[in-house]
Amino acid sequence: MSVNILFAAHKDRWAQYETPLRRALDAIGIDYALSTDMEPGGVDYIVYAPNSDVQDFTPYKRLKAVLNLWAGVESAVKNPTLTVPFARMVDDEGLTQGMVEWVVGHTLRHHLGMDAHIVNPDCEWAAKAPPIAADRPVGLLGLGALGTACGQALSDLGFPVSGWARTPKSIDGITAYHGKDGLQSVLETSQILILLLPSTPETENTINAETLALMPKGAILINPGRGTLIEDAALLAALDNGRIGHATLDVFRTEPLPADDPYWTHPNVTVTPHVASETRPPSAARVIAENIRRGEAGEPFLHLVDRDAGY
Ligand code: NDP
Repeated sequence: MSVNILFAAHKDRWAQYETPLRRALDAIGIDYALSTDMEPGGVDYIVYAPNSDVQDFTPYKRLKAVLNLWAGVESAVKNPTLTVPFARMVDDEGLTQGMVEWVVGHTLRHHLGMDAHIVNPDCEWAAKAPPIAADRPVGLLGLGALGTACGQALSDLGFPVSGWARTPKSIDGITAYHGKDGLQSVLETSQILILLLPSTPETENTINAETLALMPKGAILINPGRGTLIEDAALLAALDNGRIGHATLDVFRTEPLPADDPYWTHPNVTVTPHVASETRPPSAARVIAENIRRGEAGEPFLHLVDRDAGY
């Protein structure tokens, strides 16, 4: 019997995903139908993005799993009608690689003090070499698929890397902490702090007046995680009083960031428009196909969301 797969993402995405998905599904050798329009009662799998028109999963009586195209699941995880196994996207070749490049690039910008020479209208000859990576401790909040890959890339460059997760971990190249004391250890030592936590009720405002006060004076904050991780008024105050030297922010509570938001004009803030990384169709399609293969073979799905934890 044919496996029926509904593609339910923003309509612009179908053109990018149809061919890679067909190629990946052909490679796993199942008999399938793939479409953006199917009778709900016959659908086996939904390839999903939370901004699609499908918000009520109750008519999908035969559904075996929902396979998300995004890593972030904060909106879908709250959907009470989504009760079948729900997998998030872990796309090592595309999404993760893109995040590693973005994080390493922005970390090196601040580590090397590149801005001083890129924009130098007064022709200042400030001949002071930056420290080497070994003298610049870097911290990562979030040691999941993205945080671990970024931390290991930074460690490979020579940075001393510490990281914080919800559960204890042992990761090559990263000194891993958990718990409240663990957070304090990472914050106290990180001259550059990168946020790669998911948005959950527990992670909201992880960066607040109290935690910012623990950081070394002039520390750099880089946030490609989610806007909710930061209490914005506290960060702006820390930027104004010099506790934080610069914040590079890719994600915000409201996106697009409103034109009158103070982040746009703050001299020590760089705003990037949620471009740190994205799922790439060829590699993401292979991840989706592998999960469908597993579902059909009765094997456990990869990358399942823990609804209680919220990510
Ligand atoms: P994962 O789920 O793999 O990792 C999440 C990490 O956060 C885990 O290490 C987890 O701990 C930790 N964590 C979760 N809750 C807590 C908590 N309460 N206290 C301490 N640590 C916690 O996610 P990914 O690495 O794949 O993605 C991270 C986030 O990056 C996404 O949720 C998304 O918001 C963002 N993102 C941003 C993009 C962009 O372009 N800006 C693109 C893609 C993703 P543990 O390991 O113990 O479970």
